Amino acid sequence: MEKTADAVIIGGGISGASVGHFLAKKRFGKVVLLEKKKLGAVGTGHSAANVRTYYSNPVTVKFAWRAVQMFENDREELGGDSCFRQIGFLLLLGEQTVRAGSQILAMEKSNGVEGVREVSPQEIKEVAPSLNLEGIEKAIFESRSGYADPTKTTRSLVEKAKNWGLIAYEGISAIGIQLKDRRVAAVDTEQGRIESPVVVNAAGPWGRQVGLWLGLNYSLRWSRESDLVMSLPADLGPLPVVSDAHLRFYFRPNADGELLAGLGFPKEIEPLDIDNYDEALDPKTRHRIEQPLFERVPALRSARFLHGWASLYDITDDWHPLVGPEPEIEGYYAFFGGSGHCFKLGPPLGEALADLISGDKPEIDIGQLRPSRFIHGQPLSSAWGGGNRA
Ligand SMILES: Cc1cc2nc3c(=O)[nH]c(=O)nc-3n(C[C@H](O)[C@H](O)[C@H](O)COP(=O)(O)OP(=O)(O)OC[C@H]3O[C@@H](n4cnc5c(N)ncnc54)[C@H](O)[C@@H]3O)c2cc1C
Repeated sequence: MEKTADAVIIGGGISGASVGHFLAKKRFGKVVLLEKKKLGAVGTGHSAANVRTYYSNPVTVKFAWRAVQMFENDREELGGDSCFRQIGFLLLLGEQTVRAGSQILAMEKSNGVEGVREVSPQEIKEVAPSLNLEGIEKAIFESRSGYADPTKTTRSLVEKAKNWGLIAYEGISAIGIQLKDRRVAAVDTEQGRIESPVVVNAAGPWGRQVGLWLGLNYSLRWSRESDLVMSLPADLGPLPVVSDAHLRFYFRPNADGELLAGLGFPKEIEPLDIDNYDEALDPKTRHRIEQPLFERVPALRSARFLHGWASLYDITDDWHPLVGPEPEIEGYYAFFGGSGHCFKLGPPLGEALADLISGDKPEIDIGQLRPSRFIHGQPLSSAWGGGNRA
């Protein structure tokens, strides 16, 4: 175990892997990443990993667009193959959601997103002929979006960064952070102390717990979130990633011959014990996903259910992650609270945070995501209300 480092990252999900990757790429010095389980073992590895740009704040749109460009050039930008499938992304809008959708489209365009357009029901049929369009007035199509493999992406980021000196430990927990004169001095682990002037709290659902070590009382909620996988009939025709804002769920092709689906917000939060929860898909949730799925794609009624899982979201008060320093504690940076969309945002946010930590100006200003935004009365808002659409 290392005794000293220039930066220690707590957490090996996509957030920790990303900031570790970009710090190492910048030759920040000796960067140590600690993951108490396995890389990507929690929310990251169970993510639907959809990569899309429709968001209702310019800052999120800019980071999501940067994400698309990174996934398009994954070998260059993310250290290896992320299995990005650029099959497009279709956002279905009904009477209640058409207004929010139009605002989003304007927001995307004015922030430089390319390949995004409004599509009529007739055009939707060209993009996804198997859809029953009952209740749908129009849609937004993002031709550059798609989905990736979350575990592979996380591993590639870490493996590539090892060539630049990143040291990653799996199966080792951080258990405390030491301060000296309100500056970060060391991180305690199960296997000893690492002296370091910089620590990144990328502990995902445990971000609140890590914050409490320093007296930082973050407001974070946790919700059980599930996906299911079923067989995909071969004669269904083309299918992009589909987010159905009307029936509040999403689905997409998965690996060869499979389909993945999950519920979208607004829906109730399902609190859980983050240290002890059942990772199996429960029958009630399976039914709640299948119901809208069979309504929207009737041909799937005869598809074979394969498997499913339950994982979790770590949710902040405005459904946007907490990223940046804490003015009271020099050398400490928060990077958690993904709120259901930080698979795609992880790499570009990690890039920007690595710039900030190194004293460089990030290309996209990350300031709006600072944890202290709530104290300053500046939370982000969403055209959709609270939820992972953000
Ligand atoms: C079902 C589901 C579907 C999703 N779909 C999408 C999607 O389509 N698109 C999208 O962009 N996002 C999606 N998300 C959200 C996205 O996956 C998460 O926001 C993202 O993966 C969070 O990554 P993270 O690194 O911040 O946290 P995590 O993946 O939770 O990683 C945190 C890591 O920190 C480790 N850790 C915690 N405490 C310690 C400690 N003391 N010492 C060492 N290690 C520690 C944990 O073991 C964990 O591995 C989805 C999430 C779920 C659950």
